[in-house]
Amino acid sequence: MFRRPSITYRTVAFVAMVCLGLLAIDGWNSWQSRTEQLHQMNVAASNLARAMAQQADDTLKAADSALVGIVERVEHDGTGPAAVERLRKVLAAQVDEFPHLNGLHIYDQDGNWVANSRRIPPQNLNNANREYFIFHRTNEERGPHIGIPVKSRTSGELLVPVSRRINHPDGSFAGVALATIDVDFFMKFYDSLDIGEAGAVGLVLDNGTMMARRPYSPDVVGRDMRETGLFRAYVEQGAVGTAYIRSAQDGTMRLNSFRRLENYPLFVSAALSKDEILANWWRETIWHSVGVLLLALVVGFVGWRLVKQFQLQVQTEDKLRQARDALESLNKTLNTLAMEDGLTGLANRRQFDVTLDNEFGRAMRNASTLALIMMDVDCFKQYNDIYGHAAGDECLQTIGRTIARVAGRRPGDLAARYGGEELAVLLPNTDVAGAVILAERIRSAVRDLKIVHAGTADGFVTLSAGVDALQPMPGATQPKELIRAADQALYAAKAGGRNRVCPSPKAVPA
Ligand code: GH3
Ligand code: MG
Ligand code: MG
Repeated sequence: MFRRPSITYRTVAFVAMVCLGLLAIDGWNSWQSRTEQLHQMNVAASNLARAMAQQADDTLKAADSALVGIVERVEHDGTGPAAVERLRKVLAAQVDEFPHLNGLHIYDQDGNWVANSRRIPPQNLNNANREYFIFHRTNEERGPHIGIPVKSRTSGELLVPVSRRINHPDGSFAGVALATIDVDFFMKFYDSLDIGEAGAVGLVLDNGTMMARRPYSPDVVGRDMRETGLFRAYVEQGAVGTAYIRSAQDGTMRLNSFRRLENYPLFVSAALSKDEILANWWRETIWHSVGVLLLALVVGFVGWRLVKQFQLQVQTEDKLRQARDALESLNKTLNTLAMEDGLTGLANRRQFDVTLDNEFGRAMRNASTLALIMMDVDCFKQYNDIYGHAAGDECLQTIGRTIARVAGRRPGDLAARYGGEELAVLLPNTDVAGAVILAERIRSAVRDLKIVHAGTADGFVTLSAGVDALQPMPGATQPKELIRAADQALYAAKAGGRNRVCPSPKAVPA
């Protein structure tokens, strides 16, 4: 019902398991290392964003601090000619102090330039239509305002405007104090960051306006980012977050780490290309995989050869076993042929002789008796003459079966065809009386077969038997003496009228 799987099957399973195990371990390892790479990428991007946020915060703070002082001064001192002259010096000093400040400007309530940090005062320039100006005029809030980048009307540079409202003593709108920061100032910092070939960093206003970006292109500053994945992620996740976003422009998948500035309504984003970060990992993984695959192939090949070897061995063993079985059965047949009488199925003369010698030796060693019954079918010549040789054969077969049945009770006893129609029974460990009883039983059993024989006195086939028993003495007695004595007793039985049993007079008494 339940068979153990064959050695072939088990070897194949083992080799397959080893190969799969190798691949699984390598796969798991590679996945771990990939996860680790991505984690480090996350940390790196987040650190970049932190540094960028800090830089932007500091820059804006410096500009804003200058504005706070200027607004306070204008509101207190007014904009008379003397005050303006002093103000111009202060503005120039402030700009000298902070290299990232492009300029500081003051406009009156109509957008006309009142003063700026330049040595040369502006001529007839009106900024009433600028976004920041409109914002402050229409908005009473006193906090800083960061506007969308504008192109300088004097230098053509892109500038980030940071502004504050100036009030009259009654709280009405008196003008705007403006600080401008070079977009280039941010760009220089961004260019110094290590973001790989395909990385991107940017500074974005909370309202979705792009302020500065690397990689830089002129049209990118001021672009509306509200429909981008980055802006949506920022809106969804809040001040600090990360998101994998596929760039709409170049199709690059990047990990974006963004962070809102602490004090101003802007956020920065640092994005590293996933492919770039994983490039090393890919290279390593491919080498690994090729190595492990080769190893698995070698193991598989060796396993396959082993299995073939096993199969060959099993086949050879099978053939050998078959050959051995055939030989054994042939041997058995030969043995049987050599030891058995073909007609009666009893032991043949050869086996009788060998067994007699063996039993004789054993009886001598054990100091036990060995008995022999010699039998001869009565008037058999006549039987042949009357009924034919074939009938004679058949009669002998029947007598043989009868003797085997009656005499084959003890394992050591041997019934044999001694020759022609003469039969013998060898009885180890039996005295003459016991042998006579058995001989008598055989005789009467044969008589009881009632095989009709017109040539005998009572009309049926009978046999006569002579019995002898002796205790072999070392050097004194020979096996043939037992035969001779039993034979003589048989003669006596014939002479006595046949169909009888005669013990040898020489037999040792019981
Ligand atoms: P007795 O009672 O004195 O033994 O008379 P008998 O006729 O049996 O005399 P004897 O033993 O001399 O005869 C043996 C005969 O048995 C001779 C032979 O034809 C016959 N015989 C011996 N072996 C075989 C055999 O294998 N088959 C047949 N059909 N007859 C056999
Ligand atoms: Mg005879
Ligand atoms: Mg005879």
